[in-house]
Amino acid sequence: MRCPFCSEPDTRVIDSRLAEDGERVRRRRECTACQERFTTYEAAELSLPRVIKSDGRREPFIDDKLRAGMQRALEKRPVALEHVEASIADIKRHLRALGEREVRSRLVGDLVMAALRRLDAVAYVRFASVYRRFEDVQAFVEEIERLGGTPESL
Ligand SMILES: [Zn+2]
Repeated sequence: MRCPFCSEPDTRVIDSRLAEDGERVRRRRECTACQERFTTYEAAELSLPRVIKSDGRREPFIDDKLRAGMQRALEKRPVALEHVEASIADIKRHLRALGEREVRSRLVGDLVMAALRRLDAVAYVRFASVYRRFEDVQAFVEEIERLGGTPESL
């Protein structure tokens, strides 16, 4: 990269080590022209994809939206916050690993459903009933029974 002092394109790395956060590499560079030294940080580009809504609009992925949706489904359910956070981290890891710039909101919803299903059957059905819009009451009841619950337990 160019020297920030004199714009010389040729700079030399004189030291390279892992940054304290463990996720970046800190490099000490020296300009071959003016001998000024400066530091750069190198990190993997793992930004989250943008979300394509069903109406075609794009919006940035927002943690808090995901968290709010899951918490609504998990209201009064015996699930530790740390497990919810771990699931959110999993979902984000999965989305990053796709390496796509944009993903459909449907995919995010499916990931949330899968996560809730592992966390709590009731929360899963609550979320699914809103998200997937069960076609009729019977389908809803069948889903609950399949999960070994009763409609009253909702
Ligand atoms: Zn320079």
